[in-house]
Amino acid sequence: MTTPMHTAAAPAAHRAAVDLAAVREQWGDLLAAIEQAPAAEWPPRDARDFDRPAPADDEHQADTIGRMPLVLREHPAPLNLNALDAAVAVEEALFDTADAIAEVVQRPVRRRPSLDIPSYIGRPAPLLKRTRMVADRADRDDPARWQYAAATSPGSRAYGLHWAAVWLEGRALDEQSGDLFTPVPARTLDDLARVASLARRKVERALGRDGRTLALDRPCPWCGDALTGRTQPGGEPSVSCMRGEACTAPVLLDRGRRIWRGAELVGLWAALDAAQRRGEEQPPA
Ligand SMILES: [Zn+2]
Repeated sequence: MTTPMHTAAAPAAHRAAVDLAAVREQWGDLLAAIEQAPAAEWPPRDARDFDRPAPADDEHQADTIGRMPLVLREHPAPLNLNALDAAVAVEEALFDTADAIAEVVQRPVRRRPSLDIPSYIGRPAPLLKRTRMVADRADRDDPARWQYAAATSPGSRAYGLHWAAVWLEGRALDEQSGDLFTPVPARTLDDLARVASLARRKVERALGRDGRTLALDRPCPWCGDALTGRTQPGGEPSVSCMRGEACTAPVLLDRGRRIWRGAELVGLWAALDAAQRRGEEQPPA
């Protein structure tokens, strides 16, 4: 019994779509990261602010990010070169992949006879046979179409990575738009899934969300033992105390350790801050 092509391709299509969505959902964070000095702290700041009422400064920042067009621009003095390199590489990879996939699945612009009929009126009939064929403007400007870059125009690249990712997701999932697209061949889908996975890893690595484990530089506020932070790609960060059951921290035990996740992390950060302030208040020995 042979497996039909489309069922073999389906997991790649799904993986590609999930990874592309993850890339565009984190794109604003990556662009914002370019403008900030890399943080040597764990976990990423946005995770630390999880569920916490934003102080006035953060509100202002969130506002600025909200208005920021999600287009990678020239940065005269980027503060985070890793983030910039990742953004440039990911954008290039997705734009080039969209070009390549459009070549394979996108119907060329329809041509139709020029409507400049008046210029033929009164001329000998044979001239009419040489009617000029021109691009159908409505078909050419169809917003669902991927526009290639040309010497005079950046094409769809002008809309930035977000649109490229959305367009590629549509092709991966074989979304129809009249007769504009044919399904992506299985081998091309595999290529797309690889590009999407690599792009996602680049973005997450640059944002420090790529599944790392590291020792926090401050001890557990409840028992004084070491704390270990952990991030997982696409998952929420967590912190665990190394002491085990004997730690009195008000969180549940997981595999023998106190572990903070999600909203519980807010309580941990507050306790760490309080412990640090207590330390600073003590007169130097
Ligand atoms: Zn502890």
